[in-house]
Amino acid sequence: MEKAGLSSQTPRPVEAATASGRANRFSGSGKSVQGERPGPRRDPPRADPRPARDLAPETDELGSHVSTAGGVELAPRRAREIGAVCLQLFTKPPNRWTEPTWDPDVPLRFARAKAEEKIQVVGSHDSYLINLASPDPALWQRSVEAFRRELARCAALELDFLVTHPGNATDGDVEGGRDRNAEGLARALAEVRGGTRVLLELTAGGGSTLGGSFEDLAALLARIPPPWRDRVGICFDTCHAFAAGYDLVGDYEGVWAAFEAALGLDRLALFHLNDSRYPLGSRRDRHEHLGEGTLGVEPFRRILQDPRFSAIPKILETPKEPDPVANDRKNLAFLRALRWGGGS
Ligand SMILES: [Zn+2]
Ligand SMILES: [Zn+2]
Repeated sequence: MEKAGLSSQTPRPVEAATASGRANRFSGSGKSVQGERPGPRRDPPRADPRPARDLAPETDELGSHVSTAGGVELAPRRAREIGAVCLQLFTKPPNRWTEPTWDPDVPLRFARAKAEEKIQVVGSHDSYLINLASPDPALWQRSVEAFRRELARCAALELDFLVTHPGNATDGDVEGGRDRNAEGLARALAEVRGGTRVLLELTAGGGSTLGGSFEDLAALLARIPPPWRDRVGICFDTCHAFAAGYDLVGDYEGVWAAFEAALGLDRLALFHLNDSRYPLGSRRDRHEHLGEGTLGVEPFRRILQDPRFSAIPKILETPKEPDPVANDRKNLAFLRALRWGGGS
């Protein structure tokens, strides 16, 4: 595992100082989501800190990546169909460069659908083609522009977060890759204002892929100039972590101690809850249904019952086919049963 040796320079999150001013979307105060229009917010959305058993299941911090086939405004209904008020989506097909052409009223239609379905947390995942670490100037420029547009669409929809993979320094120059990635992120953040937070996703790593260790993510964060760094957080994908060598099965506390040391838990803004097809340290990224892969049941039980994480949104990216609604419902029920099932 890559050691960036940055522990003394690890950027400390600034959110801690403003924690008391954090918007609480899961307050259960009866206030309608529609009436809630906060100003620019740098904090990730947080769930209700009350014990989960006091909350109706459909208002908890669990959700899934849902389809936007037919239009982004259809995603909120799909989240409610699976019994979730948190969702992740793509604002365009993730494996094409083509930019979507939206009618001017798409943001309004989306806002209405979100309010109608009482959706609390919405984020996006960026295109898989974007490589902000690319050493190829043409691909880098194209990636920066595509990412800026991703962020602009998120801002137009007033999304809470945009998850991005830190990219690949395909020439093997990882340091240079980090510099390029940080510059691309800073440019996009400088040009697109708004409350959407950019979340760097932990990757399965391997080769010259960035983001495959906590230290690598910290080194990347350290390169983002402070005014923009405040709008950047971390997405922890359980499948990627296990594939990258973080042993959530055998050394759960050790993994979080390492995260705290390198990044600080305040920087953690989102979970992707996925089981893994391949074993610990395999560097292979294949998601599996929860409890049916190499992670098994226990890491998910611990995360769901861990008070440090009770307010952090948790999104499924587990296999959908052949029936996305049934599969998402199954995996959400798995998580809720773990939380309410008591300790092991
Ligand atoms: Zn991802
Ligand atoms: Zn993920």
